[in-house]
Amino acid sequence: VKMFAERPANVYEMLAHSAATFPTNEALIKGETRLNYTELKQLTDTLANNLMEKQIKKGDRIALLLGNEIEFVLTVLACAKIGAIFVPLNTKLTASELIYMMTNAGTKMLITNSLLVKPLEDWLIQSQFIQYCYLTDDQQPAKRMYSFKDELLKETPGSEHPYTSPSETEPLYIMYTSGTTGLPKGAVGSHINAIHSCLSYRHVLQTDHTVRTLVAIPLFHVTGLIGQLLHMMLVGGTVVLMERYQTETAIRLINQEKITFLFNVPTIYIMMMSHPLFNAFSYDFVRIVAYGGAPMSKETIIQLKRCFPNAFMHNAYGATETTSPTTIMPKHYSEEKTNSVGLPVPVADLRIVSEDGADCGPGEIGELYIKGPMVIKEYWNNKEANLSSFTEDGYWKSGDISCIDQDGFVYIMDRKKDVINRGGEKIYSIEIENILYAHPKILEAAVIGVKDPLFGEEIKAYIVKRPGEELTEEEVIIFAHKHLPKFKVPKQIEFIEELPRNPGGKILKKKLIEMSPENNQ
Ligand code: ATP
Repeated sequence: VKMFAERPANVYEMLAHSAATFPTNEALIKGETRLNYTELKQLTDTLANNLMEKQIKKGDRIALLLGNEIEFVLTVLACAKIGAIFVPLNTKLTASELIYMMTNAGTKMLITNSLLVKPLEDWLIQSQFIQYCYLTDDQQPAKRMYSFKDELLKETPGSEHPYTSPSETEPLYIMYTSGTTGLPKGAVGSHINAIHSCLSYRHVLQTDHTVRTLVAIPLFHVTGLIGQLLHMMLVGGTVVLMERYQTETAIRLINQEKITFLFNVPTIYIMMMSHPLFNAFSYDFVRIVAYGGAPMSKETIIQLKRCFPNAFMHNAYGATETTSPTTIMPKHYSEEKTNSVGLPVPVADLRIVSEDGADCGPGEIGELYIKGPMVIKEYWNNKEANLSSFTEDGYWKSGDISCIDQDGFVYIMDRKKDVINRGGEKIYSIEIENILYAHPKILEAAVIGVKDPLFGEEIKAYIVKRPGEELTEEEVIIFAHKHLPKFKVPKQIEFIEELPRNPGGKILKKKLIEMSPENNQ
């Protein structure tokens, strides 16, 4: 396995090194709060000490249910120091999805706020798992809930708890991704995974302590967490946080904070560039425009180049399982190789595997297998997924249908997995189908992605009613809303007499995708 030889011992060392090298450099900005590296390290150390005070030990899991807040970052870095494992949760999920994840991870502590905790309150009171819940806002903490600021950030001079630093192979976080069975899988990201990803970003994007980035995408996904936050901790750059994405605020922050490095999903760039405020500014200070998480159209890349005239364009392809980057478009190539996701990062080992298991040559199409020190070793507590997702010699099977050209550039052509990519958020069709099948008037359901100009893909459900039953689109949507988070609710419903099937009885999703009018515009 190829590795970067010179590397920090663990993720906390990245912060410690930047604090020693650039003590007064701005590290983290959110609203009125501005912390330099010395201050960020001090707060991290205080939090780490208080976590140990609360009996958090190496290997314990701490769930984070928060937008992009200072406390999110502090928890990440404090866990990295003492070897605790943070579990970043998607704030848009339903209570039952969150409870499944926290239970699967065996969570000891939850850090959240009074708004996001609401749907979980009953469960928390009964739960055997969560021993401590800390709220980051100034609301009056409810029963069995404590104040983050008063309890976890209180100064305790002169009483540092002893701890053993985590080694690089130990886990740093568990991040849940949707799975083929409909149940989320916890990808276990280790320190070495995160470190190699950050080193790859620094190497290809040539970033240093002068870089300033705006985190507009969520920190509970790898791109924000690794590609922006931890990457900046490595180089000593500046992170500006937005609690959650909002177009006008993002445009203002880019200008006020003189952001030099943008990293977003295509949907966000489309939203920003079509906002009336966008053209009120010039963006000649922006140096790096990175995008990933979903395919980007050629028109959007051309428009980006025009809007950010001094920036290099970098498509970045990766996944939760590869701790963010697997390929990155190098400088100078985005025009010549517009359709490509770039070259493998220096430590990536890629195979393109045909249906009969053979390795493909240049230009031949097959499934992309990925190996390297940034690839996770396993899913948490999930033997079945570990067996089916990795080869015996450690390649992760991406489910992306790809090819590599003569020059080594990688192209993502299609997907083997039955997943919808809605603005970078991945939704397995089966999760939605399972819900639809529970409706008493639905006989059969098949969910596919249809083209959408803003989100790339939107969710469409084909439904066969039970004989003799009356059912309207609206009823289906209301039912879906009850059981699914908003972003997973189908945008369109089409009733159909019967679903297309092959002779073996398997539903032909490809046929449904082809026959949808939205995909033929
Ligand atoms: P994030 O969750 O932070 O957006 P991610 O999209 O890299 O990161 P996942 O949510 O695990 O991670 O999704 C991975 C899948 O997203 C890939 O297997 C691929 O199908 C798709 N994908 C990621 N990057 C690109 C890209 N640059 N171009 C096309 N598809 C991409």
